[in-house]
Order: sequence, then structure tokens, then C-alpha cells
Amino acid sequence: MWVVFNVTIALLLMELGIFRALERILGFYSIVAVAWVGALVADLVINKPLGLSPPLIEFKRAHLYDINPVGVGAMVLSTITGVLALTGIFGTTPQALAAFLALAVAFVAAPAIAYATRGAYYIARAPRRDWGGQTTIRCVICEHPFEPEDMAQCPAYSGPICSLCCSLETRCRDLCKPHARVSNQFVKNLRRLLPESAVSTINTNLGRYLGVLLLFSSLIGAVLALVYFQITLDTYINGDGLKSALWTVYFVLTIIAGIGAWLLVLAQESRRVAEEETSRQTDLLMQEIEAHKRTDEKLQRAKEVAEAASEAKSRHLVGLSHELRTPLNSILGYAQVLERDPTIPAKRAPAVKVIRHSAEHLSGLIDGLLDISKIEAGRFHLERNEVRTKEFLNQIVEMFQLQAAARGITFHFYAPERLPFAVNTDENRLRQILINLLSNAIKFTDEGSVTLRMNYRNQVAEFIVEDTGIGIHTEDLERIFLPFERARASRNRKATGTGLGLTITRLLTKIMGGDISVTSEVGKGSAFCVKILLSEVFNPRTTSVMEDRVRTYRGARQTIMVVDDDENHRVLVRDLLEPIDFKILTASSGAECLELAERHKPNLILLDVSMPDMDGWQVAQQLRLMPDRPAIIMLSAFAPDPKHKAEPYPLNDDYLIKPFDLRQLLGKIHALLDIEWVHADKPEAPRAITAEMLTPTMMPPQGDIEELIRLGQIGYMRGIQNKLSAIESRSTAHQDFVSYMRVLSDGFDLKRYVAVLESFRSDNG
Ligand code: ADP
Repeated sequence: MWVVFNVTIALLLMELGIFRALERILGFYSIVAVAWVGALVADLVINKPLGLSPPLIEFKRAHLYDINPVGVGAMVLSTITGVLALTGIFGTTPQALAAFLALAVAFVAAPAIAYATRGAYYIARAPRRDWGGQTTIRCVICEHPFEPEDMAQCPAYSGPICSLCCSLETRCRDLCKPHARVSNQFVKNLRRLLPESAVSTINTNLGRYLGVLLLFSSLIGAVLALVYFQITLDTYINGDGLKSALWTVYFVLTIIAGIGAWLLVLAQESRRVAEEETSRQTDLLMQEIEAHKRTDEKLQRAKEVAEAASEAKSRHLVGLSHELRTPLNSILGYAQVLERDPTIPAKRAPAVKVIRHSAEHLSGLIDGLLDISKIEAGRFHLERNEVRTKEFLNQIVEMFQLQAAARGITFHFYAPERLPFAVNTDENRLRQILINLLSNAIKFTDEGSVTLRMNYRNQVAEFIVEDTGIGIHTEDLERIFLPFERARASRNRKATGTGLGLTITRLLTKIMGGDISVTSEVGKGSAFCVKILLSEVFNPRTTSVMEDRVRTYRGARQTIMVVDDDENHRVLVRDLLEPIDFKILTASSGAECLELAERHKPNLILLDVSMPDMDGWQVAQQLRLMPDRPAIIMLSAFAPDPKHKAEPYPLNDDYLIKPFDLRQLLGKIHALLDIEWVHADKPEAPRAITAEMLTPTMMPPQGDIEELIRLGQIGYMRGIQNKLSAIESRSTAHQDFVSYMRVLSDGFDLKRYVAVLESFRSDNG
């Protein structure tokens, strides 16, 4: 650039025929150069050794004043003196020695000014010296590494910046050294010389305009004077004519400069306003970010407190449920054992059924609360089972056909035309969802029908449960999904549910990646729709889920060992499995289990996770080392810890959560052992009896009905069962009446039970 520039100027001068003027111009130029270099050298060789300037040379813009009067002042003074001497004002000798004179002035002026200003304008702010021992530092803007000497700490970018990026930066407005800006330096010095009122007058837009105009017109004047001076060297040129021409040019150019200066000041002003606005907005934004940070922190704290509380609640609930489950498991198990026992007298069968129902109800309540707390605490693990769609749906349909028949309503099931043979999903959770919806539909429908409709398209299943029941008010449609909330339409019915069904259904659907919606019309019925992803299994395993009517099995006799420190549980499992012809071994501790396993080589071990001396996982680890490792099903009151699943060689083959259903246990046993179930013959579906089918001759005497109403009103289930058995044993004529009332009382549907009996009373009366 510099070479091109100089060559171009030289060419222009030659072309313009003012080559002769070069000598003079070079003379002037040499004085400027001497003044510049002189000021620099004086600073280095005089000021530094004398201690008038800092010992180190600082070159980074970030640490320098825009103008240091030592250099600039010495150079200006030296240039003026040299130029004046060159013009011959001081006589011929100084004219000849103008350059030397300029050098001498620079050498004197530089230390003099440095002394006068006490070297205050060398360093605007102390450079950072300590970079933590780093040998190279990365620039926050260009991201190149530089040595520490090249770097400055930049407050505008909040990081280290290299000297090149710093020099090119225009938007920072010298945030790191505002006092060192030329305008501030100028105003500060003006304040020293002039009273405050004068300074504030000058420091306005008008003052600035006049200043810029003065600078421009002086420059124009100086250039034109130089031109005049050069041209008049030629004696044949008319000096007066030239002077008046140059004056005219001067005024014209000054007018143009006046407009230019005004535009410049305006542009500066609008830039300043824009920058101020930007920085105001940035400040507001920063304040907002700060406020958000504070809110965030508060939220975080509140969340932690809430989580701790919820954690404590969950722990409490888990502990409580564990305490409740253990005895409940025995009740449930023995009820099942007794139900299968042919020696139990027929009249006791309903009592056993009541025990099982009550235990199941309690177990459902505990499970529900536990499920909700687990889902809400984010500690819920979905299983992935291969589910045979047809068998799965048949089970559910069979179950609800019976229930619907017992309530005197019809049950329809519509399957899609193409039903996948097997799908992947959490079988128990899907069953739970459908059971919740279908039992509600049956519970809240007094006449008409309940329909389960399934659609399956693109791996997405849609289950629609429709009923012709009491319906739900529009305002209740959202509320019924909250725990313990009941719709107003169902308020005058005797509540028979836990009030948790829909809450759990919705939570489960959500975590299974699905969606649930409901539409309803009061008095006409409701439709719940669950959409859920059920990916099809293309190579299904072979298992059977027809476990409910298992009588025995085909294949070699299998030995199953039950390991549990709770004796009730060991005996219960034995009582459940021995009738199906399994050989049962029991062990109360890990050590006993290992010893028995060594001796008897069982085919399957049911292993309790929490035992005092050695826990189930430790036992499983030992068992794994055995040559013919038996299949292992872990039993626990808690959902499996995912870490045991992540093992490359799983310690166990399956997992069961207590209390479990016999069917569940049989399903898992079948999947692990090489056996085939032998089923008992399918029982006849009970004949559905409805209130309309009962004729007056089937009715017991009025006194019995009154007593049954009284027992129903106080909810004395055992009393009802006894009374019904007594009526049944008196005469077979009342058989249908007794069966019908049993269905109602077994389902805990006391409201309906009483209502039906009251209608008989009025009929008879
Ligand atoms: P509950 O154990 O009381 O059935 P849910 O959570 O399953 O608890 O249901 C909450 C409430 O929603 C019920 O009490 C009932 O008022 C209403 N509800 C649910 N399903 C139906 C339905 N099919 N028809 C009418 N009301 C229903």
C-alpha cells in the first residue's frame, strides 16, 4: 500500500510538472519525519533512563491513552519549529539547519512534557501480568493462541483478547479505559483550562460541530497555503490573482466542509444514541437474565425440597406397603388355596370368596397408591413382554363377559380384522389399563351394553371402551382423572372403587407413550379411548397363558425350591404348587438354599431378594457358578433394581413382585421349564340372571328380604352370605334369587343390592 501510494504521488507530481517542488516538499516532509523519530528516540533514550516514563514499553491499545502528550506534543512542537526555521523566519543559518533544530526541540520537549505531566499518559490501566502460568492464551474473538505479552483482559467480551482483535474492535467504546479516550482527554484538559460553564457549552453538539469545522477549515487552509507557497516559488506567476483564487476555493471548500462536519456530528450523535439504547436494552436483558437465574435457583431449591418430601413420602409408602403386603399375601394365597380345595363345604365357598375379594381390593389399593407414588417419583420401570394378543384379549373378554352377565348387561368385543399374533408391551400394565376402564364401564352401567373395540394400524393400537351407562358431566371430564375424585353423576351410587383407577390409567398410558381421552353424555354413556404403541413381534416365542385352569403338567417331574426367610410365604408357595404335582423344596436362608441346590439339583428356584444373612442376589451369584444352573425367579416386594438387569450375564431369569397371582407364577414357570400344562375342563359360564327374570314365586318371604336389606345397609357381608345360605338351604325354589343376590354382594355392589331388594319389597307389598 505504502509503496503504491508513494509511487502514485511521485508520478502525479511529475505529470503535473511540479517536480521542482519536490525538493521543498521533501524538506518539509523530512522535518515531520525528524520530529516524529526525534520524539520517539528522546522518549526511549532520555525519558526511560531518567524514569520519566514506565520501564516497560506498552504497545497494546487496551492499555494506552489515545493521545500521549509526550510524543504528540514533542512532535508537534518540533515540527512547528522546524517548519518555521525552514521558511527562513529565524535567518539563513537556522533555515539551513532546520532539520537539526527540529531534532533538538524534540529532544528537549519530550522529557520536559514527560516531567510536566509526570508520565501520567503512558499507561491508561495496568496490564494484567499474571495469566496463571499459561504459555499461550486463546483469544476470545479470533480463538487463535497467543503469548501472554500479546493479550489483554477485555471487559466487553469478558475474556482475554489479542492485540490485533483489540485494535480492530470499534463497538467496545473503550470500556476498559473510558478516561483514556481522546474526547475525554480533551474535555478533561479543557476543564483544567476553562470554567465548567464554558466546558459544558463546548461539550455540546454545537461545540463539537464548531470544533470539527475548525479542524476541517484549518486543514483546508494549511493545504491551500502550502499550494500557494509552492506555486509562488515560480516568479512568473501572478501572486495576487492566485491568492484571490485560492481564497475563493477556501471559502467554497469551507462551506462544503461545514455541511460535511454537520453530517459527521449528526452521524456520531445518532451512533451514540443507538449505542446507548443498545446498552440500555442489554442492561435490561442482563437484569432479566439475572432475575431468571434467581427465580431458577429458588425453583431449584423448592424442587429439591419437594423432591425430598416426595422421596420421604415414597419411602414411607413403600415401607408401609411392604408391611401390609406380607400378611396380605398370605391371606390372598390361602384364599386361592381354599377356593381350589374340594373338601371345603359348599356353604363356606362364598365366605372364602369374600376373603379373596377383600384381600384383592386391599392389595389393589396398596398397589395403586404405590404405583402413583412410584410414577410420580420417576422410579417406575416398564417391563417389555411378548404378549400373545389373542389370548391376552380373550382373557380380558372372558373376565368381563362374566361380570357383565352378572350385572345383566351385554358385553361386546370387536377385534380388528388383522390382529397381530404377538406384540411387545408391558403386559401387566396394559391389562391394568383395560381392566380399569372396563370395570368402570360395567360398574357405571345399569342397563344396555359395554363394548370393547380395538383398532390396530401402523403398530398403534386403539382401545375404545364404550358403555350405555350413567355418563359424566362435561365439567367432570378432566377431574375424574385426579386421585379420589368422583364424577357428580356417580355420587349417589355407593362407591365401590378405590378412586385411583383413572389416575393410574392415565399415568400408565402416558409413561407407555400413549394417550387417553374421554367423551361422554350424561344419561347416555361414555367412551374412553386409549391409543398406545404396540409394536408387532415377528418371531414370537412359544409360551402359553392359559394358566388359570392348570390341573397338572406333562413332562418329567420338576423340582422347585422356594427360598424365603418368611415361613408363611414358603408354605404358601408349597400349597399352591404341590397340587399341580411339582416337587417342592423349601429353604429359609441363602446358605440352606445353596446346600439343598447342590444335593437335589432343583429345576427352578424361587428366590426372595431380601433375606437377612445373604441376600437373593448374592445367592444367585453363587448359584450361577454351579455346573447345571437352575432357572431362577427373583421374588420381591419391590420393582426390580435396573442395575441387576444391566449385567451382561443376568443373575436371574425372571422377576415377580409380591403379592403375585398364581396365574402369573404359573406363566413364568411355564416359560422357564420344559413342560406342558394339562388344563381342567372349562367351567360353564354362569347363567346370567337379571332382576326381570325373577318371578314372585322365586322370592323368599318378606321377612328375609327385610333382613337382607338391613344387613346390606350396614354393609355386614358375612351376615348377608349366611342369610343367603340359609335361604338357599330352606328351598331350591329360591335358588335363582340367591344366585342373583350373591352376584351383587360378591361384587360389593351394595347400593344396587339394596335397591334391588327394595324393589322386591314394594312389588310384594
Ligand atoms: P373409582 O374407583 O371410583 O371407579 P376411577 O378413578 O376409576 O375411580 O374413576 C373416577 C370416577 O370417574 C368414578 O368415580 C366415576 O365417577 C367416574 N367414571 C369413571 N368411569 C366412568 C364411566 N364409564 N361412566 C361414568 N362415570 C365414570
